[in-house]
Amino acid sequence: MFARFDAAGAVEVAAASFDGAAAGADERGLADALTVALEGGTARRLPPCRPSKVVCVGLNYRRHAEEMSKPLPEEPLIFLKPSTAVIADGEAIVLPRSSQMIHHEGELAVVIGTRAHAVAESRAMDHVAGFTIMNDVTARDIQRRENKYTRGKGFDTFAPLGPSIVPGLDPDSLDVTTRVNGDVRQHSTCSDLIFPIPRLIAFVSEIMTLLPGDVISTGTPSGVGPIEDGDEVEVEIAPIGVLRSPVVRR
Ligand code: MG
Repeated sequence: MFARFDAAGAVEVAAASFDGAAAGADERGLADALTVALEGGTARRLPPCRPSKVVCVGLNYRRHAEEMSKPLPEEPLIFLKPSTAVIADGEAIVLPRSSQMIHHEGELAVVIGTRAHAVAESRAMDHVAGFTIMNDVTARDIQRRENKYTRGKGFDTFAPLGPSIVPGLDPDSLDVTTRVNGDVRQHSTCSDLIFPIPRLIAFVSEIMTLLPGDVISTGTPSGVGPIEDGDEVEVEIAPIGVLRSPVVRR
């Protein structure tokens, strides 16, 4: 498990080994232990990596494609979020004035560990540092109105990422759950991906070279819905943890 903190102005990387059962039972306790392990007093959690790009996959769960009234893509449907959209666990999603319909999208995200250019599916997982959680926050009204994703997906704070990176997981064994103010909005096994992770890495790396720290967010299951000023969104994938984001409108 890897996490990044800002301790007295200096970025610290904390790592801890764990067995999956222990971490799944008490991930928050493990995160607290990591914080205490840092010297210099209070440490602020940072996103677990600094991606040069965040590659998102659209319509990668059958039931989400149905709820969006979209046909299933024949190839992975990808778009980019700017690196400036990335925020850490605990940081606020800021609702922009130009949208009146902002949705959560809880997703399993893959973090690249080594440079990947045109890699074969069979070698794709060799380039993975580990797994984390992303909330692909979306201004749905803008996305629908413009039929392009850059503006509706690209606002600052629209990519909460973290809390940590966990290597060596079997993605088919993971479940993603999104809660808003404690109410479950999304729940799915990650084994329902239409395009599995090795296919995604091979597909994307043929288009653009993936660099260490880059993120591929694998798509959201059904149940997307609105978030409002004052809400708290949680995306949970055990044993990675819980990605918490308060929501504010400024
Ligand atoms: Mg998404």
